[in-house]
Amino acid sequence: MRVVIAGGGTAGWLAAAILTRQLAPLVDVTLVESEEIGTVGVGESTIPTVRAFHALIGLDEAEFMAATGATFKLGISFENWARAGDRYIHSFGDLGRSTWMGDFHHFFLEGRGQGMAGEIGDYSLEHRAAAEGRFATGGEPPLNYAYHFDAGRYARYLRSRCEAAGLTRVEGRIERVERDGRSGHIAALHLSGGRRVAGDLFLDCTGFRALLIGEALGVGFEDWGAWLPTDRALPVQTAAVEPARPYTRAIAHDAGWQWRIPLQHRVGNGLVYCSDHLSDDEARARLYANVAGERLVEPNPIRFRTGRRVKAWEGNCVALSLASGFVEPLESTSIHLIMIALTRLIQLLPAGGISPAAVSRYNEQARREMEAVRDFIVLHYHLNERPEPFWRRCRETPPPDTLAERIALFAEGAHAYQDSHDLFRVASWVQVMLGQRLEPRRHHPLGAIMPRERLAQALGDLRAGVAAAAARLPSHQDFLDAYCPEAAPR
Ligand code: FAD
Repeated sequence: MRVVIAGGGTAGWLAAAILTRQLAPLVDVTLVESEEIGTVGVGESTIPTVRAFHALIGLDEAEFMAATGATFKLGISFENWARAGDRYIHSFGDLGRSTWMGDFHHFFLEGRGQGMAGEIGDYSLEHRAAAEGRFATGGEPPLNYAYHFDAGRYARYLRSRCEAAGLTRVEGRIERVERDGRSGHIAALHLSGGRRVAGDLFLDCTGFRALLIGEALGVGFEDWGAWLPTDRALPVQTAAVEPARPYTRAIAHDAGWQWRIPLQHRVGNGLVYCSDHLSDDEARARLYANVAGERLVEPNPIRFRTGRRVKAWEGNCVALSLASGFVEPLESTSIHLIMIALTRLIQLLPAGGISPAAVSRYNEQARREMEAVRDFIVLHYHLNERPEPFWRRCRETPPPDTLAERIALFAEGAHAYQDSHDLFRVASWVQVMLGQRLEPRRHHPLGAIMPRERLAQALGDLRAGVAAAAARLPSHQDFLDAYCPEAAPR
């Protein structure tokens, strides 16, 4: 089967990496990209599922980290979200110990009500380690972690591996998409200089341009801008001025938020904002005022539209990442969605021709996954108590029904859940709901039926265990220096 990948950003090279690694004898892979057009060049913060995908494509962790200037990530620090001055960490860790009857946070809420519990993060090792700037792999218990990495270096690193594995890379601008007159399927891409690249399956990884799925096939776009009104990002890279923290920072401002992603050799920063409430010039001034360290590039605004293609797979074309839709990067979900889409595509591989049932199943799963991510992101915006017009707008727009139901369940009885298509676990929903100041009116009585002394003992032991395990870890920067001794100087 001839697979043609259109585009060589993170999506294109991840697709190439898994196809060449896992299906080499079955598929003949060609990747077309245009250096002149370039890539979006952001997308540097990930979630722990990235590690399973790296294992599938055979990456060695230390080599990958050295090649991409990566650091370790244990979660995200949300600053100024529900109210200016607030801070909470959404960590990748589990919380305490749960039972079949109810999750740990019910015990926590009971204990907190009785004045014997600290903060929810005191019961998660990843939270505590992040807050203290500590990290190590291979500890006991092991940390659940992800990475921050340099997007440009990541694409180059994957490219060098794919080319070594026999992938054909074609440099050139796609000028026209040729369709088969009978089936309507894509037959070939026509490139500058009169070149033609034919294939059986086409992966649209052309980023926001969506050249194949959108422009050529005309698949519609479902707009989610009413729930998520930010529509611009202004990224800038700066020199590092402090030891790398093992978490991303997401700092809210009056019309959006700002990210800070520490790498070994620099820091990725960017302002995400809503153009109805902040002009590009104001955004630039604000960004410059809020970054430390020398600026390494001049920032240009990226315009985006939040939402999804109504079908990610149409005919013989599968759109990945930005071409298939975009939910803003607040919880670092886009790269995960590329990876999960690729594993699903391989499971449903159309080796014997396109199966409408497989296409429909793929699209349905993609829809549910993306809507679940959307709901999680909307949660951060909707539950706020900030006074500015942008935040009032987010608060006053009714959330999607699926999210409204979740909020009601938590508000009434502290119930949180993870459905089969949900990426985020109960611990994630709980950390963000409490962090956004959603205080449940009640919780499960399982904590209340425990004798007071036993509850106090259990909570105390858990907290002490987490504190002791965190104290055994080295600082993240020290661990990184030992793990990647070749790292560029800070
Ligand atoms: P691109 O990187 O834009 O690549 C498109 C490719 O198509 C390029 O190679 C380009 O040359 C090629 N191309 C386009 N048109 C043509 C043509 N006519 N001919 C030939 N080639 C063409 N995700 C995360 O997981 N974590 C994050 O922290 C995160 N932060 C983000 C911040 C912002 C502001 C934005 C906008 C996105 C962020 N994302 C993040 C998403 C992440 O950037 C993308 O998932 C990832 O970069 C994949 O992009 P892509 O490969 O789809 O597109």
